[in-house]
Amino acid sequence: MSPPSAPGEFERLLARLTGPPGPELSCEQCFEQLDRYVELELGGSDADSAIPGMRAHLEGCSACAEDHDSLCALLLSDAAEAGR
Ligand SMILES: [Zn+2]
Repeated sequence: MSPPSAPGEFERLLARLTGPPGPELSCEQCFEQLDRYVELELGGSDADSAIPGMRAHLEGCSACAEDHDSLCALLLSDAAEAGR
């Protein structure tokens, strides 16, 4: 096994394993940002860097993940109807 070649690579790997830096969202904060997050996500923007901590929260919180999924579905069906 050779050591990581690039300096900082170990830190990046560690950060990936322990989750993103930055503040962890509470369910309340998650709920407040969810609309914007889903809009960014569906619009093809980098929602994760716009709202750090959101993805980690959704992965760890099934209640908010469900809200996220139904909001996604709602916005997608709205978009489909508007496109008609
Ligand atoms: Zn939550």
